[in-house]
Amino acid sequence: MKLVAAVDVGGTSIKSALVDADLRIFATANAPTPHNDLDGNKTVKVISELLSKIASPGEIKAVGLAVPGALDETNGISRWSGNLGWKNLPIRDLLAREINIPVAFGHDVRTGALAELRNGAAKGVNNAIFIPIGTGIAAGLIIDGKIRSSDGFAGEIGHVDVGAKFDCVCGKKGCLEAASSALAITSAYAHASGKAGISSEEIATLAHSGDVLAEKIWNDAMTSIATACQMLVTVLAPEVIIFGGGLSQSGNLLINPITKALAGSLTFQRAPRLVIAHYGAQAGTIGCAMMALDLLPGGGN
Ligand SMILES: [Zn+2]
Repeated sequence: MKLVAAVDVGGTSIKSALVDADLRIFATANAPTPHNDLDGNKTVKVISELLSKIASPGEIKAVGLAVPGALDETNGISRWSGNLGWKNLPIRDLLAREINIPVAFGHDVRTGALAELRNGAAKGVNNAIFIPIGTGIAAGLIIDGKIRSSDGFAGEIGHVDVGAKFDCVCGKKGCLEAASSALAITSAYAHASGKAGISSEEIATLAHSGDVLAEKIWNDAMTSIATACQMLVTVLAPEVIIFGGGLSQSGNLLINPITKALAGSLTFQRAPRLVIAHYGAQAGTIGCAMMALDLLPGGGN
């Protein structure tokens, strides 16, 4: 059996999964992302330990590594990551040297787009946008059948100004991410209700059941997402917009209000279908596994 590992380095945790050629997940293990690891040495050690937890020595034939931020994907370099503090770090080769296993390298959002394009909600579609919503918000752009990133800089939809009133991690005010990320929604509810620890999924359910405060916060967040979608639709004309990440677990409670708000803001534009990712919050993991399988002779077969 061909086994590969998917590794997603996020701002707060590193997630790993053992995946076979049929894209079945056999084991997972997570660990906190090391802080202030400017040379990447601690991060590659943590990844190595995670891999030894999910598989026996020699079992993993390739690794698909995803990281956030601006990347040089061809050369395996993290150009810049605000959350990780990396600058021009050759993280792909550092990891390959540490674990002595071939490493494929990609962006945490575009790996999810890859999974949806090959085998998910964007399969057979030429123009699609994949938007995972979790701690942050970004977009994987599928244009004319290809995932496009404009040298790794494109897709930062979380930092367009949707007129929200909150401060954003990027230093601006009004960004989509500060209004509609899972983190923004839980923070807004905690702040307004005085009750901490309520998840965005629970807030969606509360909103649906008539909790006035939850309804206001949820609807404001959905309206901001629709505003960003209106920009994307006008500029890029996707046939489908796919929502992933933690917030996608809310299903139609997410899709329906965005669809309604978006419909009211389009005139001449081609209206896209709005759907939840086929792989849900796992799209990034599956995409990493696909990249790793691509490194093996004969691909995943
Ligand atoms: Zn911002």
